Amino acid sequence: MNVVVVGGGVIGAASAWNLAKRGHDVTLIEQFQPGHKNGASHGSSRIFRHAYADDYYVSLAARAYTLWRELETDTGTDLLTITGAVDHGPADIVQPRIDALARFGLAGEVLDPAEAQRRWPGMKFDTTVLHHPDAGRLHADRSVAAFAAAAEKLGARIEYGSAVREIRNTEVSTDSATFSADHIVVAGGAWTSSLVSAHVPLPRLVTTQEQPAHFLPTIDAAWPSFVHHPGAELQTEGIYGLSSEDGVKIGEHGTGPIIEPDTRDFVPIPDGVERLKDYARAWLPGVDVDSADPLTCLYTTTPDSNFVVDRSGDLTIAAGFSGHGFKFAPAVGELVADLVDGRAPSTSLFRFGPRTSPTV
Ligand SMILES: Cc1cc2nc3c(=O)[nH]c(=O)nc-3n(C[C@H](O)[C@H](O)[C@H](O)COP(=O)(O)OP(=O)(O)OC[C@H]3O[C@@H](n4cnc5c(N)ncnc54)[C@H](O)[C@@H]3O)c2cc1C
Repeated sequence: MNVVVVGGGVIGAASAWNLAKRGHDVTLIEQFQPGHKNGASHGSSRIFRHAYADDYYVSLAARAYTLWRELETDTGTDLLTITGAVDHGPADIVQPRIDALARFGLAGEVLDPAEAQRRWPGMKFDTTVLHHPDAGRLHADRSVAAFAAAAEKLGARIEYGSAVREIRNTEVSTDSATFSADHIVVAGGAWTSSLVSAHVPLPRLVTTQEQPAHFLPTIDAAWPSFVHHPGAELQTEGIYGLSSEDGVKIGEHGTGPIIEPDTRDFVPIPDGVERLKDYARAWLPGVDVDSADPLTCLYTTTPDSNFVVDRSGDLTIAAGFSGHGFKFAPAVGELVADLVDGRAPSTSLFRFGPRTSPTV
Protein backbone atom coordinates (compact mmCIF):
# COMPACT_ATOMS: atom_id res chain seq x y z
CA MET A 1 0.00 0.00 0.00
CA ASN A 2 1.13 3.54 -0.74
CA VAL A 3 1.16 5.41 2.62
CA VAL A 4 1.98 9.09 3.19
CA VAL A 5 2.98 9.99 6.77
CA VAL A 6 2.74 13.68 7.68
CA GLY A 7 5.11 14.72 10.48
CA GLY A 8 8.66 13.56 11.12
CA GLY A 9 8.78 13.87 14.91
CA VAL A 10 9.33 10.71 16.92
CA ILE A 11 5.81 9.38 16.32
CA GLY A 12 5.72 9.98 12.56
CA ALA A 13 9.24 8.60 12.12
CA ALA A 14 8.39 5.52 14.23
CA SER A 15 5.22 5.02 12.19
CA ALA A 16 7.19 5.24 8.94
CA TRP A 17 9.62 2.59 10.24
CA ASN A 18 6.84 0.21 11.24
CA LEU A 19 4.97 0.72 7.96
CA ALA A 20 8.14 0.20 5.92
CA LYS A 21 8.85 -3.01 7.89
CA ARG A 22 5.47 -4.30 6.70
CA GLY A 23 6.43 -3.68 3.07
CA HIS A 24 4.38 -0.53 2.50
CA ASP A 25 5.56 2.13 0.07
CA VAL A 26 6.10 5.00 2.53
CA THR A 27 6.62 8.73 2.00
CA LEU A 28 7.27 10.78 5.15
CA ILE A 29 6.72 14.54 4.83
CA GLU A 30 8.25 16.91 7.42
CA GLN A 31 7.95 20.68 7.25
CA PHE A 32 11.31 21.41 8.92
CA GLN A 33 14.86 20.05 8.57
CA PRO A 34 16.16 16.94 10.43
CA GLY A 35 16.95 17.64 14.09
CA HIS A 36 14.77 20.78 14.28
CA LYS A 37 13.77 22.14 17.70
CA ASN A 38 10.28 23.45 16.87
CA GLY A 39 8.17 20.54 18.08
CA ALA A 40 8.22 17.99 20.88
CA SER A 41 10.89 15.42 19.99
CA HIS A 42 14.24 17.26 20.16
CA GLY A 43 17.02 17.22 22.75
CA SER A 44 19.26 14.66 24.36
CA SER A 45 16.96 12.89 26.82
CA ARG A 46 13.54 11.43 27.58
CA ILE A 47 12.54 9.15 30.44
CA PHE A 48 11.79 5.51 29.64
CA ARG A 49 9.80 3.70 32.32
CA HIS A 50 7.08 1.08 32.70
CA ALA A 51 5.72 2.43 36.00
CA TYR A 52 2.19 3.47 35.03
CA ALA A 53 -0.86 2.72 37.14
CA ASP A 54 -2.82 1.61 34.06
CA ASP A 55 -2.05 -1.87 32.71
CA TYR A 56 -2.36 -0.82 29.06
CA TYR A 57 0.51 1.65 29.38
CA VAL A 58 2.67 -0.91 31.22
CA SER A 59 2.19 -3.42 28.40
CA LEU A 60 2.78 -0.72 25.75
CA ALA A 61 6.05 0.23 27.46
CA ALA A 62 7.11 -3.42 27.55
CA ARG A 63 6.43 -3.75 23.81
CA ALA A 64 8.26 -0.48 23.19
CA TYR A 65 11.29 -1.77 25.12
CA THR A 66 11.60 -4.73 22.72
CA LEU A 67 11.23 -2.48 19.69
CA TRP A 68 13.74 0.11 20.98
CA ARG A 69 16.29 -2.69 21.21
CA GLU A 70 15.37 -3.87 17.69
CA LEU A 71 15.85 -0.33 16.36
CA GLU A 72 19.25 -0.10 18.06
CA THR A 73 20.31 -3.35 16.40
CA ASP A 74 18.93 -2.28 13.01
CA THR A 75 20.77 1.04 13.06
CA GLY A 76 23.85 0.26 15.19
CA THR A 77 23.06 3.13 17.57
CA ASP A 78 22.76 3.38 21.36
CA LEU A 79 19.38 4.88 22.17
CA LEU A 80 18.16 3.46 25.50
CA THR A 81 20.44 3.64 28.53
CA ILE A 82 19.27 1.76 31.59
CA THR A 83 19.79 3.87 34.72
CA GLY A 84 16.81 2.69 36.76
CA ALA A 85 14.06 5.08 37.76
CA VAL A 86 12.31 6.09 40.95
CA ASP A 87 8.82 7.33 41.68
CA HIS A 88 8.49 8.98 45.05
CA GLY A 89 5.80 10.90 46.83
CA PRO A 90 2.44 10.14 48.46
CA ALA A 91 1.77 6.41 48.94
CA ASP A 92 -1.66 6.62 47.27
CA ILE A 93 0.06 7.74 44.04
CA VAL A 94 3.09 5.44 44.19
CA GLN A 95 1.32 2.27 45.37
CA PRO A 96 -0.75 1.71 42.17
CA ARG A 97 2.51 1.82 40.20
CA ILE A 98 4.07 -0.75 42.53
CA ASP A 99 1.00 -2.96 42.05
CA ALA A 100 1.03 -2.59 38.25
CA LEU A 101 4.70 -3.60 37.95
CA ALA A 102 3.98 -6.62 40.15
CA ARG A 103 1.02 -7.67 37.97
CA PHE A 104 3.38 -7.79 34.98
CA GLY A 105 6.22 -9.51 36.85
CA LEU A 106 8.43 -6.46 36.24
CA ALA A 107 11.14 -5.68 38.75
CA GLY A 108 10.31 -3.09 41.39
CA GLU A 109 11.47 -2.54 44.97
CA VAL A 110 10.17 -0.25 47.65
CA LEU A 111 12.84 1.64 49.58
CA ASP A 112 12.71 3.82 52.64
CA PRO A 113 13.94 7.39 52.10
CA ALA A 114 17.23 6.81 53.95
CA GLU A 115 18.17 3.85 51.75
CA ALA A 116 17.21 5.79 48.61
CA GLN A 117 19.34 8.73 49.77
CA ARG A 118 22.31 6.38 50.30
CA ARG A 119 21.99 5.01 46.73
CA TRP A 120 21.40 8.37 45.02
CA PRO A 121 23.15 11.03 47.13
CA GLY A 122 22.37 13.75 44.57
CA MET A 123 18.70 13.58 45.57
CA LYS A 124 16.50 13.82 48.67
CA PHE A 125 13.45 11.67 49.37
CA ASP A 126 10.52 12.09 51.74
CA THR A 127 8.04 9.21 51.59
CA THR A 128 7.46 5.99 49.66
CA VAL A 129 10.17 5.33 47.03
CA LEU A 130 9.58 2.87 44.20
CA HIS A 131 12.77 1.84 42.39
CA HIS A 132 12.25 0.16 39.03
CA PRO A 133 15.59 -0.94 37.67
CA ASP A 134 14.54 -1.64 34.04
CA ALA A 135 13.89 2.05 33.36
CA GLY A 136 16.25 4.72 32.09
CA ARG A 137 16.62 7.36 29.42
CA LEU A 138 16.33 7.58 25.66
CA HIS A 139 18.47 9.86 23.52
CA ALA A 140 15.78 11.90 21.79
CA ASP A 141 17.61 13.32 18.75
CA ARG A 142 19.36 10.05 18.05
CA SER A 143 16.06 8.14 18.32
CA VAL A 144 14.25 10.29 15.76
CA ALA A 145 17.25 10.03 13.40
CA ALA A 146 17.40 6.25 13.90
CA PHE A 147 13.71 5.74 13.05
CA ALA A 148 14.17 7.84 9.91
CA ALA A 149 17.34 6.02 8.88
CA ALA A 150 15.79 2.60 9.50
CA ALA A 151 12.70 3.55 7.49
CA GLU A 152 14.84 4.84 4.62
CA LYS A 153 16.90 1.64 4.66
CA LEU A 154 13.63 -0.21 4.02
CA GLY A 155 12.80 2.03 1.08
CA ALA A 156 10.85 4.91 2.67
CA ARG A 157 11.33 8.37 1.11
CA ILE A 158 11.59 11.41 3.37
CA GLU A 159 10.74 14.91 2.18
CA TYR A 160 12.20 17.44 4.62
CA GLY A 161 11.39 21.15 4.39
CA SER A 162 7.94 20.44 2.88
CA ALA A 163 4.92 21.74 4.76
CA VAL A 164 1.66 19.96 4.05
CA ARG A 165 -0.93 22.64 3.33
CA GLU A 166 -3.97 20.50 2.62
CA ILE A 167 -5.28 16.97 2.99
CA ARG A 168 -8.19 16.18 0.70
CA ASN A 169 -9.56 12.64 0.44
CA THR A 170 -6.43 10.62 -0.40
CA GLU A 171 -4.29 13.54 -1.58
CA VAL A 172 -1.71 15.45 0.41
CA SER A 173 -0.54 18.81 -0.98
CA THR A 174 2.57 20.79 -0.15
CA ASP A 175 3.56 24.08 -1.81
CA SER A 176 5.35 22.24 -4.60
CA ALA A 177 3.74 18.82 -4.99
CA THR A 178 0.65 16.69 -4.51
CA PHE A 179 1.04 13.13 -3.23
CA SER A 180 -1.64 10.50 -3.83
CA ALA A 181 -1.91 7.79 -1.21
CA ASP A 182 -3.94 4.70 -0.41
CA HIS A 183 -3.73 5.76 3.22
CA ILE A 184 -2.60 8.94 5.04
CA VAL A 185 -1.14 9.00 8.56
CA VAL A 186 -0.97 12.34 10.35
CA ALA A 187 1.45 12.59 13.28
CA GLY A 188 1.64 16.35 13.30
CA GLY A 189 2.13 17.04 17.01
CA ALA A 190 0.97 20.58 17.82
CA TRP A 191 -0.07 21.17 14.21
CA THR A 192 -2.45 18.18 14.04
CA SER A 193 -5.73 19.98 14.81
CA SER A 194 -5.20 22.59 12.12
CA LEU A 195 -4.49 19.85 9.56
CA VAL A 196 -7.27 17.35 10.29
CA SER A 197 -9.97 18.69 12.61
CA ALA A 198 -12.24 19.20 9.58
CA HIS A 199 -11.88 15.47 8.73
CA VAL A 200 -12.01 13.59 12.06
CA PRO A 201 -13.68 14.13 15.47
CA LEU A 202 -10.49 14.85 17.42
CA PRO A 203 -10.70 15.44 21.16
CA ARG A 204 -9.62 18.98 22.07
CA LEU A 205 -5.81 19.24 21.79
CA VAL A 206 -4.12 22.00 23.80
CA THR A 207 -0.54 22.98 23.03
CA THR A 208 1.68 24.41 25.74
CA GLN A 209 5.27 25.63 25.71
CA GLU A 210 7.07 23.72 28.45
CA GLN A 211 10.42 24.70 29.91
CA PRO A 212 12.59 22.15 31.66
CA ALA A 213 16.17 23.11 32.60
CA HIS A 214 19.52 21.37 32.81
CA PHE A 215 21.65 21.71 35.95
CA LEU A 216 25.32 20.77 36.21
CA PRO A 217 25.97 17.94 38.68
CA THR A 218 28.39 18.76 41.50
CA ILE A 219 29.03 15.22 42.69
CA ASP A 220 30.04 12.04 40.93
CA ALA A 221 26.91 10.00 41.67
CA ALA A 222 24.42 7.70 39.99
CA TRP A 223 21.22 9.45 38.85
CA PRO A 224 18.05 7.48 38.21
CA SER A 225 15.31 8.92 36.06
CA PHE A 226 12.70 10.13 38.52
CA VAL A 227 9.22 11.43 39.08
CA HIS A 228 8.57 13.25 42.34
CA HIS A 229 4.80 13.24 42.76
CA PRO A 230 3.27 16.23 44.57
CA GLY A 231 1.78 15.89 48.05
CA ALA A 232 3.51 14.77 51.26
CA GLU A 233 6.46 17.16 51.72
CA LEU A 234 6.41 18.45 48.13
CA GLN A 235 3.62 21.00 48.24
CA THR A 236 4.35 22.58 44.83
CA GLU A 237 4.13 21.07 41.31
CA GLY A 238 5.37 17.53 40.74
CA ILE A 239 8.78 17.28 39.11
CA TYR A 240 10.34 14.81 36.68
CA GLY A 241 14.06 14.53 36.15
CA LEU A 242 16.92 12.52 34.69
CA SER A 243 20.59 12.73 33.93
CA SER A 244 21.77 13.39 30.39
CA GLU A 245 24.83 14.47 28.43
CA ASP A 246 23.66 18.07 29.02
CA GLY A 247 23.39 17.74 32.81
CA VAL A 248 20.58 16.79 35.16
CA LYS A 249 17.32 17.82 33.50
CA ILE A 250 14.28 18.63 35.63
CA GLY A 251 10.87 19.96 34.67
CA GLU A 252 7.31 20.52 35.74
CA HIS A 253 4.69 18.50 33.88
CA GLY A 254 2.32 20.52 31.72
CA THR A 255 2.42 23.88 33.46
CA GLY A 256 3.54 26.03 30.51
CA PRO A 257 1.50 28.72 28.73
CA ILE A 258 -0.93 27.79 25.94
CA ILE A 259 0.60 28.81 22.60
CA GLU A 260 0.26 28.45 18.84
CA PRO A 261 3.19 26.45 17.42
CA ASP A 262 3.92 28.89 14.56
CA THR A 263 3.93 32.07 16.63
CA ARG A 264 5.44 31.06 19.99
CA ASP A 265 8.41 32.97 21.36
CA PHE A 266 10.72 30.12 22.53
CA VAL A 267 11.48 32.27 25.63
CA PRO A 268 11.35 30.49 29.01
CA ILE A 269 9.33 32.35 31.66
CA PRO A 270 11.68 33.53 34.44
CA ASP A 271 9.23 32.53 37.24
CA GLY A 272 9.24 28.97 35.95
CA VAL A 273 13.04 28.82 35.97
CA GLU A 274 13.01 30.17 39.55
CA ARG A 275 10.59 27.41 40.60
CA LEU A 276 12.94 24.77 39.18
CA LYS A 277 15.87 26.39 41.03
CA ASP A 278 13.83 26.38 44.26
CA TYR A 279 13.13 22.68 43.74
CA ALA A 280 16.81 21.94 43.07
CA ARG A 281 17.81 23.90 46.18
CA ALA A 282 15.43 21.89 48.35
CA TRP A 283 15.64 18.41 46.80
CA LEU A 284 18.77 18.03 44.67
CA PRO A 285 21.90 18.52 46.79
CA GLY A 286 23.97 17.09 43.92
CA VAL A 287 23.47 19.93 41.40
CA ASP A 288 24.71 23.49 41.04
CA VAL A 289 21.50 25.53 41.42
CA ASP A 290 22.97 28.55 39.63
CA SER A 291 23.83 26.57 36.52
CA ALA A 292 20.17 26.32 35.42
CA ASP A 293 19.98 26.30 31.62
CA PRO A 294 16.34 26.25 30.41
CA LEU A 295 14.99 25.16 27.03
CA THR A 296 11.53 25.05 25.49
CA CYS A 297 9.55 22.18 24.01
CA LEU A 298 5.87 21.54 23.19
CA TYR A 299 3.23 19.42 24.89
CA THR A 300 0.05 18.67 22.93
CA THR A 301 -2.39 17.45 25.53
CA THR A 302 -5.78 15.73 25.39
CA PRO A 303 -8.44 16.31 28.09
CA ASP A 304 -7.60 12.98 29.80
CA SER A 305 -3.88 12.86 28.87
CA ASN A 306 -4.42 9.61 26.95
CA PHE A 307 -3.15 9.59 23.36
CA VAL A 308 -5.12 9.73 20.12
CA VAL A 309 -4.27 6.79 17.84
CA ASP A 310 -7.31 6.10 15.71
CA ARG A 311 -8.49 5.75 12.15
CA SER A 312 -11.34 7.20 10.11
CA GLY A 313 -11.60 5.86 6.57
CA ASP A 314 -8.20 6.14 4.92
CA LEU A 315 -6.89 8.61 7.49
CA THR A 316 -5.05 7.54 10.67
CA ILE A 317 -4.14 10.07 13.36
CA ALA A 318 -1.44 9.70 16.02
CA ALA A 319 -1.38 12.81 18.21
CA GLY A 320 -2.03 14.25 21.66
CA PHE A 321 0.91 12.56 23.35
CA SER A 322 0.37 14.77 26.37
CA GLY A 323 3.99 15.05 27.49
CA HIS A 324 4.60 11.33 27.95
CA GLY A 325 4.63 9.76 24.49
CA PHE A 326 8.30 9.44 23.59
CA LYS A 327 9.00 6.22 25.48
CA PHE A 328 6.16 4.46 23.61
CA ALA A 329 7.05 5.68 20.11
CA PRO A 330 8.05 2.38 18.45
CA ALA A 331 5.01 0.62 19.90
CA VAL A 332 2.72 3.47 18.87
CA GLY A 333 4.19 3.17 15.37
CA GLU A 334 3.16 -0.46 15.47
CA LEU A 335 -0.39 0.48 16.54
CA VAL A 336 -0.49 2.90 13.60
CA ALA A 337 0.62 0.14 11.21
CA ASP A 338 -2.07 -2.17 12.65
CA LEU A 339 -4.72 0.49 11.98
CA VAL A 340 -3.48 1.10 8.44
CA ASP A 341 -3.49 -2.65 7.75
CA GLY A 342 -6.89 -3.10 9.38
CA ARG A 343 -5.33 -5.72 11.69
CA ALA A 344 -6.78 -4.30 14.90
CA PRO A 345 -9.17 -1.52 15.91
CA SER A 346 -7.95 1.34 18.06
CA THR A 347 -7.68 0.58 21.75
CA SER A 348 -10.52 2.23 23.70
CA LEU A 349 -8.05 4.48 25.56
CA PHE A 350 -6.86 6.09 22.33
CA ARG A 351 -10.09 6.51 20.32
CA PHE A 352 -11.25 9.82 18.91
CA GLY A 353 -14.25 9.48 21.21
CA PRO A 354 -16.23 9.03 23.29
CA ARG A 355 -13.45 8.32 25.79
CA THR A 356 -14.52 7.12 29.18
CA SER A 357 -11.01 6.30 30.38
CA PRO A 358 -9.56 7.68 33.61
CA THR A 359 -7.20 10.63 33.41
CA VAL A 360 -3.53 9.49 33.40
C1 LIG B 1 10.01 19.09 27.80
C2 LIG B 1 9.47 17.75 27.41
C3 LIG B 1 9.85 16.63 28.14
C4 LIG B 1 9.34 15.38 27.80
N1 LIG B 1 9.75 14.28 28.51
C5 LIG B 1 9.29 13.07 28.16
C6 LIG B 1 9.80 11.93 28.81
O1 LIG B 1 10.67 12.05 29.68
N2 LIG B 1 9.34 10.71 28.44
C7 LIG B 1 8.40 10.57 27.46
O2 LIG B 1 7.99 9.43 27.18
N3 LIG B 1 7.91 11.65 26.79
C8 LIG B 1 8.34 12.88 27.12
N4 LIG B 1 7.90 13.99 26.46
C9 LIG B 1 6.86 13.83 25.44
C10 LIG B 1 7.39 13.43 24.09
O3 LIG B 1 8.60 14.09 23.80
C11 LIG B 1 6.30 13.73 23.06
O4 LIG B 1 5.11 13.05 23.45
C12 LIG B 1 6.69 13.30 21.67
O5 LIG B 1 7.93 13.85 21.30
C13 LIG B 1 5.61 13.74 20.67
O6 LIG B 1 6.07 13.47 19.37
P1 LIG B 1 5.21 13.85 18.09
O7 LIG B 1 5.88 13.18 16.95
O8 LIG B 1 3.77 13.58 18.35
O9 LIG B 1 5.31 15.44 17.97
P2 LIG B 1 6.47 16.35 17.31
O10 LIG B 1 7.80 15.90 17.77
O11 LIG B 1 6.11 17.76 17.55
O12 LIG B 1 6.38 16.01 15.77
C14 LIG B 1 5.38 16.50 14.94
C15 LIG B 1 6.06 16.79 13.62
O13 LIG B 1 5.10 17.05 12.62
C16 LIG B 1 5.62 18.05 11.78
N5 LIG B 1 4.51 18.69 11.08
C17 LIG B 1 3.43 19.27 11.66
N6 LIG B 1 2.62 19.77 10.73
C18 LIG B 1 3.19 19.50 9.54
C19 LIG B 1 2.82 19.80 8.21
N7 LIG B 1 1.70 20.48 7.93
N8 LIG B 1 3.62 19.39 7.20
C20 LIG B 1 4.78 18.69 7.48
N9 LIG B 1 5.18 18.42 8.74
C21 LIG B 1 4.39 18.82 9.75
C22 LIG B 1 6.31 18.99 12.75
O14 LIG B 1 7.22 19.86 12.12
C23 LIG B 1 6.96 18.01 13.71
O15 LIG B 1 8.26 17.67 13.30
C24 LIG B 1 8.41 15.25 26.74
C25 LIG B 1 8.04 16.39 26.01
C26 LIG B 1 8.57 17.62 26.33
C27 LIG B 1 8.17 18.80 25.51
